[in-house]
Amino acid sequence: MPDAPSQPLIEIIDLTKVYTMGTVEVHALRGVSLTIQPGEYVAIVGASGSGKSTLMNMIGLLDQPTGGIYRVRGTESQKLGKKALADLRNREIGFVFQRFNLLARATAMRQVELPLFYAGISAGKSKQMAKDALTKVGLGERTHHRPEELSGGQQQRVAIARAIVNQPSLLLADEPTGALDTHTGEEILTLFENLHSQGLTLVVVTHDPDVAGRAHRVITMRDGLIVEDAAQIPSQAAASPPIPVSVASASQPLAPTAARPQIVLETLDGAAA
Ligand code: ADP
Repeated sequence: MPDAPSQPLIEIIDLTKVYTMGTVEVHALRGVSLTIQPGEYVAIVGASGSGKSTLMNMIGLLDQPTGGIYRVRGTESQKLGKKALADLRNREIGFVFQRFNLLARATAMRQVELPLFYAGISAGKSKQMAKDALTKVGLGERTHHRPEELSGGQQQRVAIARAIVNQPSLLLADEPTGALDTHTGEEILTLFENLHSQGLTLVVVTHDPDVAGRAHRVITMRDGLIVEDAAQIPSQAAASPPIPVSVASASQPLAPTAARPQIVLETLDGAAA
């Protein structure tokens, strides 16, 4: 008997979001359907105003849609109350932002411990978990440094350790290298690759083709819709020999790879093709 398909991590069906500003309605999402399986590495790209941040806020359970269905591991988010929604978000999703969003006066250790405190984990256990997460991002020796004593790249590593310390299912990153120089940005992308190879699901919102090039799947948005959803062979770090194919269009044949994620291609009206 064939294996049963795994439960999607993220399932979005015909999602809409309308912002109302006085008498003006802005249709930021106009019927987006999307499935993300556990273990995928997805980039969301598109011009400014195309709806990327709105979609990211929906995926991150930071905002409620106007219409449609959003499920995380089969749980429909619109049916949850505030507390259950916050619990689901804290358990399943870690966030990384362009500007790191660290507390100015807290040590790296304290920054990473904080989500564990909110999750009710004991001080002793959370110290060890925070130390492990900082070691995982290469900052095991910098646990008592404050942001001002760390480089931009190191600050982003602290933010990544904070995002993964709860062992979430999904890491959601918004322009994670946007405030970093190219070399440091590369290091962060290599760290993402390591985390992905350890099983973490990654969704990265970016306008930077180099960042999107490292993902295994690229979703392109325009005017509140997904206009392309394509698998790609991820490009390598700058130091490695380049792979000629960086972005495969949906209509191009895909190179065979056992690890390729399942692709769900969406048509413009939101139905799975
Ligand atoms: P992107 O991240 O691709 O730049 P956004 O999701 O930020 O796109 O925006 C999509 C559309 O929704 C844009 O027209 C933007 O002006 C509008 N928009 C985004 N957030 C709000 C908001 N809080 N209130 C009103 N309009 C918004």
